[in-house]
Order: sequence, then structure tokens, then C-alpha cells
Amino acid sequence: MNKKSSNIMALAPTTSNKRETVCIFGTGDFGRALAHKMIQSGYPVVFGSRSTQTSSLIPKDAEVLSHAEAARKATIIIIAIQRQHYNFLTSLGEILHGKVLVDISNNLKINQYPESNAEYLAQLVPGAKVVKAFNTVSAWALQSGTLDASRQVFVCGDDMEAKQMVMDIVRALGLTPLDQGSLLAAQEIENYPLQLFPMWKFPILLSLGLVTFFFLYSLIRDVIYPYVNENKDFSFFIAISIPNRICPILALILLALVYVPGVLAAIIQLYRGTKYSRFPDWLDKWMLCRKQLGLVALAFASLHVLFTLVIPIRSFVRWRTSSQIVSQALNNKTEPLDNTNAWLSDSYLALGILGFFLFVLLGITSLPSVSNNVNWREFRFVQSKLGYLTLILCTAHTLVYGGKWFLSPSSYRWYLPSAYMLSLIVPCAVLVVKFVLIFPCLDKPLTRIRQGWERNSKYSE
Ligand code: NAP
Repeated sequence: MNKKSSNIMALAPTTSNKRETVCIFGTGDFGRALAHKMIQSGYPVVFGSRSTQTSSLIPKDAEVLSHAEAARKATIIIIAIQRQHYNFLTSLGEILHGKVLVDISNNLKINQYPESNAEYLAQLVPGAKVVKAFNTVSAWALQSGTLDASRQVFVCGDDMEAKQMVMDIVRALGLTPLDQGSLLAAQEIENYPLQLFPMWKFPILLSLGLVTFFFLYSLIRDVIYPYVNENKDFSFFIAISIPNRICPILALILLALVYVPGVLAAIIQLYRGTKYSRFPDWLDKWMLCRKQLGLVALAFASLHVLFTLVIPIRSFVRWRTSSQIVSQALNNKTEPLDNTNAWLSDSYLALGILGFFLFVLLGITSLPSVSNNVNWREFRFVQSKLGYLTLILCTAHTLVYGGKWFLSPSSYRWYLPSAYMLSLIVPCAVLVVKFVLIFPCLDKPLTRIRQGWERNSKYSE
């Protein structure tokens, strides 16, 4: 398939849309993968290498020459070499003068060097126009064609014309160039591939912490307490009962935590009387990872649904149901239908189903393919209004679950309330504060502040 397409493209230079020759320094993994893609896109490619011997790995339509010879043949030279080997480029200073040098390199550590690799390259070859690009695309993705996750190519450079030439190549390869500005941005661009799910770190660490806490808490209340007090072995609760307690708790707390920064930001803005002073760093970071917090919450909610579905087939549940029936039969007495309980149970289930449905809807709208198709107002409406509605439904689902035992002293074990009661603290607090914030006496000044009004403006007459 690749052979076929590169043969077709090899015809391209004979047409009037002949593309300019591109030179690639380095016949390593990335150099070869990029050359392959470029030849497919109709670019004649010439390699600059320490050895002019060609090999079966090198695309057959590409020439392999010495660095100096190859550089003479092209205006754009892609440096597919590790930074630590850049020194030899100084000896090519004259040939490289006025050429566009594309730095694609990455480092092994964040901020490994005082300056970015691209700036270092610009210092080594001052006469060249250095552009940073391609470092966030992997050789594997270029070769395999599965570029969905890394279709974006961040580009930066001080020379507008050079940057435009590189962005044209990026587009011709079927990728999306994103102009990040001057070469000063290179350091940040070089750090991107080294960041391991930066926005996911806080939600995942927080979830791990909460899971550990609630697991131990439930273990003490539901397994150790009955064992010590009643000599009953409920250790099998660890498999389904406790996870099915932890999952909804985590889902509810994390969903509430998505809305805490918004509420805190509103309070800070009201207190300061302006939107022009910066929020504390931790609040900014918290705001940035709200989507990830929401998605982790959705994952826990989905697990809760799955755990709930298996309840009827659990041996313990079947044993409890049958023993209740047998004891009623033995006593020759049937329990009358408790209407209040029936209402509570059905409302609890209905609230859970509706809450989960909206939760899934929220998750779907946060997907880039969906959010790109709605305007900012629609997105805000779904994420804020529908989000709060989801939080209300899920909180109500938990409150109704507690039912009439909610504050009963018998639900305390060793003075510890049920874990679901703890899970209600954050969501209830968020909902109460949000409710207070929609009072006109607070909502009106907040809206004005968000429109740019300042209580103690330096610029007001
Ligand atoms: P590689 O496979 O090790 O290839 C590097 C090439 O550099 C070698 O094949 C060699 O080419 C040349 N070279 C090695 N030592 C040299 C020296 N002392 N002087 C001159 N040239 C020398 O590395 P790679 O994976 O292709 O990566 C190349 C660059 O692309 C790196 O800066 C990397 O950070 C960046 N990058 C790689 C990927 C990836 O997925 N691999 C993704 C993004 C960015 P010759 O033998 O032809 O001279």
C-alpha cells in the first residue's frame, strides 16, 4: 500500500505543482519516517548523513548525500539528530546561511537545558532561520498513519516567512499546524511530549487518596465492627459491597469538586470586587483539570452501575431474600407492603437513573468531537446548568438512600457515621453556596464584575 502510494506520488514532480526539495539531516527513525511521509506527499527528499551508503530502511526515492551536499540542494533542512550531536553544524555555517532549519528534537527531562534546543541551534548557526516543529509527532505515528492523537504540530519561530514555509509542509502532510509564536515558545513545546497526562495527575492522585480512605473506613465499619461485636464474618464484602459503596461516593464527591472552583472564584471576585486580579495558582490549576475530574467521576459512576446490576445474583443477597421468605412462612405471617419504603426505594432508583443519564450526557459533551460542534454558550449551558442538575439529582439519590435511617443513632458504628453521609458534605456545601450566590443581591454584582465592572477601579472618575 505504501509502496504503491509513494510510486504514485513520485509522479508529482513532473506536474506543474512540483514541490520544493526538502533536506533531512539524519537517517535515524524519525528522519526516515518523515521522509517516507514527505515522499508520499510529493516532496523530493534528500538526506544529509555521515554515511552516504543507502540501506533498505531508507525510502528508495530519497537521495543520501553528505551533509554539505544535501544542504545545498534545499532551502528547508530538517535536523533529525539529537541535540548533543548538533556541534558539527557550526562547520556548515556558510552553507546553512539563510536556510530554514527545522528543529524537531526533544529532551529526556523537562527543562533539561537552560535554553531550548531550537534556541541552541539558532545560536550555533546564527545565519539560519530556525523553526521549531514536529517534536510532538512520533516516528511510529508518522509511519503507521494513525495520527489521530497527534495530528497537531506546534510550530514556532522568529522568521514569519520561514515559519509559513514549514506550516505549509505540515499541512501538505495532512497534519494541523498550530502557530505558537516566536522561538521563545520552543522550550514549552519541547516540554509537551515529556508531560505525562498533566491534567490527569491531580484527579487521579485525589481519587487514589479518597479510595484508600473510604476503603479503610468501610472496612472498619462493615467488616471489622460486625466481627468484633457480633462475631460475624463479612469479609466477602470486600469484593462487591465495599467497592459498590466507594464508587458512588467517589463519583459524587468528584462531581461536586468540579463545581467547587467556580463557586470559590465567584466568592473571591465578589470579595475583591474585580475580575482583574489573578486567582491563586492552586485555584487556576484546579479549574484547568475540572473536565478530567468530571470524567474520573463518571468512570466511578459507571462502575457503580455495573456493581449494582450484579446485586440480584449475589449469593449473599439470594440467601438473605430466601431466609426472609422462609422466616415469614415459618411464622405464618407476611409483612405488609410499607408504602413509605416503596416510595423511598423507587425515588432513590429514579433519581439515580436520571442522575446517571445526565452524567453520561455531560461526559459526551466534553468530548472534543462534540464540544467542537456547539458554541460557547451551548457548551456553558450543558456543563454548568446540566452539571448542577446532575449534582442535585445525584445528591438527592444519596440522601434518599439514607432514608429514615439518615440521622438515626443506630447507623453509627464506633461513633462513625455511614460513609455515604460523609460523601454528602462537599456536594451539599457546594449546592448551598451556589443557591446563595443566585440571590439577586449577589448575582447582580457578580455579573457586573464578570462584565468588567470594578468596585474600586483606579480608572473610574
Ligand atoms: P535516532 O534514530 O538515534 O537517529 C538520529 C540520527 O542522528 C542518526 O541516525 C544519525 O544519522 C544522526 N547522528 C547520530 N550521531 C550523530 C553525530 N555524532 N553527528 C551527526 N549526526 C549524528 O534518533 P531519532 O529517533 O530519529 O530522533 C532524531 C531526533 O528527532 C531527536 O532529536 C528526537 O528527539 C527527535 N524526535 C524523535 C521522535 C521519534 O519518535 N523517534 C519524535 C519526535 C522527535 P546518520 O547516521 O544518517 O548521520
